[in-house]
Amino acid sequence: MAPERTPYIAANWKMNKTIEEAKAFLGAFLPKAPNDRPEVVVCPPFLALKAAVELCAQSRVRVAAQNMHEESAGAFTGEVSAPMLREIGVDGVILGHSERRQHFNENDEALARKVPAALAAGLEPILCVGETEGQRDAGETHSVLSHQVQIDLAEVGSAELDRVVIAYEPVWAIGTGRTATPEQAQDAVLFIRNLVRAREEGVAELIRIVYGGSVNPDNAAELMAQPDIDGALVGGASLEAEDFAAIVAAAA
Ligand code: PEP
Repeated sequence: MAPERTPYIAANWKMNKTIEEAKAFLGAFLPKAPNDRPEVVVCPPFLALKAAVELCAQSRVRVAAQNMHEESAGAFTGEVSAPMLREIGVDGVILGHSERRQHFNENDEALARKVPAALAAGLEPILCVGETEGQRDAGETHSVLSHQVQIDLAEVGSAELDRVVIAYEPVWAIGTGRTATPEQAQDAVLFIRNLVRAREEGVAELIRIVYGGSVNPDNAAELMAQPDIDGALVGGASLEAEDFAAIVAAAA
């Protein structure tokens, strides 16, 4: 983790926690939340966002959604837009999570529209990229990352690029307990940083690139000690306040 970049830890609760459960988590976690570094973001399901925003208001913890539609409004039944999220005080949004790519057909062309739409509305995008196990075994990790990063960020202007947080999340490590080794994670994150460098030299040292995939209190410190890894996107281990607080403490 380079000192010029503020470490970033995000909790992806996926489709877990009712409003009451989200409140109980924050009741336990907020007293342990840092006043300074790292930057901490919680990503509850849509229905718990407003309660989370209200509870986090007196802290430095910010709230992000797990998805949004790229249009501001219109005939898109069941969808939620960036301005709607901003209206209730949401600060960011996860985009391109592998579960959305896998189960909901979210593709890079849609992400090329969603990322700039999030930025235009004032939301910080947390853009997830990563290869499947088959792609890694076939030696395609770098080409997959290159394709995803180039297309998903194609419509983001140079001045806004450093507002994007990129999460390197190898699909084979998500929810499996099979964490990437620190070397594998560092290699992929450095590769992504160099993709950003090729596009916008000055942004490469500013943009935050985090690792996600079975991060837990035992492996977090070693992963985040890698020079290019700026934090973590945490799924399963972010559901318990104690575990998440331990991961946050490892990034301080
Ligand atoms: C995630 O959902 O982004 C994730 C990394 O999950 P887990 O930590 O459970 O692997």
